[in-house]
Amino acid sequence: MESFEQLLAESARIHGHICAGQVIGVRMTMAALERIGIADPKGADRKKLYVLVEIDRCATDAIQSVTGCSLGKRSLRWLDFGVMAATFVNLDSRRAVRAVAREEARALAESYCPDVADKYQRQLQAYKVMPLDELFTFQEVEVEIPACALPGRPLRRVQCDRCGDWVQDCREQEHNGRTLCRACAGERYYRVIDRPDPLVAPSS
Ligand SMILES: [Zn+2]
Ligand SMILES: [Zn+2]
Repeated sequence: MESFEQLLAESARIHGHICAGQVIGVRMTMAALERIGIADPKGADRKKLYVLVEIDRCATDAIQSVTGCSLGKRSLRWLDFGVMAATFVNLDSRRAVRAVAREEARALAESYCPDVADKYQRQLQAYKVMPLDELFTFQEVEVEIPACALPGRPLRRVQCDRCGDWVQDCREQEHNGRTLCRACAGERYYRVIDRPDPLVAPSS
């Protein structure tokens, strides 16, 4: 794997800016991968690694950048818990480590780099040099990953009995004997507005 500085530069490029979250994400990922025996996440080990991330914030992009895992490859799953934590799973050995960013690190950062005036710059610089155990808590965990959540071809494609959308990966729901997509089952997050598509010329 590349050095910390190389990985940080790459994640800042993909994320769009350098920030404390990039430092946290890169260091968290490097430490967690070492603990589950993944040395080459984007090369030889790329099919062994699975990540569950618990927040959609800056550090999430760094985790994606360092691991090479992504939503599209189905090797990255986002759980909307709002906690700055992620679980890294070695699918081969089943070893898994959950890393949580410690809230105390914010205050501890004050004692590092006291010459840096700006609070966010100070955190960014401090997070680069603080010892891992001040930044993170690591837990050995067991994770059950259902077959429908793993990379590979969809196990199933079924059509919603109400709207006709096709649902992949076992996300359909059964309601009174009908097969429904999650939207039709009550989780619809949008409302369809009935007006003509402005880019389609009206037929006269
Ligand atoms: Zn950021
Ligand atoms: Zn539907």
